[in-house]
Amino acid sequence: MSLTDHLSARIQADGPMSVADYMGDCLLHPQLGYYTTRDPLGAKGDFTTAPEISQMFGELLGLALAQAWISQGSPAPFTLAELGPGRGTLMADLLRATRGVPGFHTAMQIHLVEASPALRAVQTKTLDGHAPEWLDTVNALPQQPLFLVANEFFDALPIRQFVRSGDHWSEKRIGLKEGALCFGLTPAAPQPALEHRLADTSEGDLVELCESAAPITAAIAARIAADGGAALIVDYGDWRALGDTLQALRAHQPADPLQAPGQADLTAHVDFEALALAAKSEGCAFTRLTPQGVFLERLGITDRARALAPPLQGEALENLISAHRRLTHPDEMGNLFKVLGLYPSQAAPPPGLNP
Ligand code: SAH
Repeated sequence: MSLTDHLSARIQADGPMSVADYMGDCLLHPQLGYYTTRDPLGAKGDFTTAPEISQMFGELLGLALAQAWISQGSPAPFTLAELGPGRGTLMADLLRATRGVPGFHTAMQIHLVEASPALRAVQTKTLDGHAPEWLDTVNALPQQPLFLVANEFFDALPIRQFVRSGDHWSEKRIGLKEGALCFGLTPAAPQPALEHRLADTSEGDLVELCESAAPITAAIAARIAADGGAALIVDYGDWRALGDTLQALRAHQPADPLQAPGQADLTAHVDFEALALAAKSEGCAFTRLTPQGVFLERLGITDRARALAPPLQGEALENLISAHRRLTHPDEMGNLFKVLGLYPSQAAPPPGLNP
């Protein structure tokens, strides 16, 4: 059975499905999902990410977390966690960069939250010698200080889409028209979860709601507030989501999200306000939302690039220069990607971020 057959059967049985249910099936269907069945990253895959562009990304995030750990009195043991580690590249770079931090490696217990068996297998190879433990959800994180990174994890979580109609909302759903998947709208109804958006939207505006983001953030924030720690959440998005940001990428090219389900990456911009409010509700402090370029510059990416440059020549040197530019320049990933830090209210914010 193809994923299209599965989706058509589901729609025929239950009626048109939400964008969230569609994304959930496309990305994580146990046998046919995009992430469950493949390694989608890198030049030969469908998209690339900051850690795949340069080792500098994971190194700097690792050192920022290690500094936060030192500032909080070097607690031992502690959880070093990553959400959605992809190929494990960020974690490998983080671990190499923090080798020299006294006590960090002996105190850490690595936990990876990863839904894809295919990517767990890749992470096992990348992190050979480190014995990480894999978890299905953040709720299984141990009760101890938590130092966590998540890059391009929240953008893969399913979103629902609503279109404003008066003071009510119509939900965008996916149904079938002459056998093909197509978008439609439900009749308008009140949406208590979107009450707060009536003030900043107008008729016809589309608003996205990621229902799993807040509970995941709340679980991390509760741990950090209770036991100490810090989280660095990096993703594309902004303080408040407005407009249709559902995006499909296949072989590094934008694609129609309803074409070839399960064969393309599907993402949506992250509404960082929802994450910050979930953290706050657990008594955890959050930093100002900071552009990735600014954050990496503050952490010293230019010095790191200069340190890596001398032995390089030709293409290798050009790759380093272009990686620095891609990660930091406002026209590339520098502005589109943002960083939100979570930390205990009595501690200092993580390096590179302001309260
Ligand atoms: N952080 C990596 C990979 C980003 S791709 C990088 O920057 O390169 C998204 C990752 O999140 C993949 O590893 C995917 O399998 C994982 N993922 C997506 N949804 C998930 C979920 N609900 N639970 C756990 N992991 C998930």
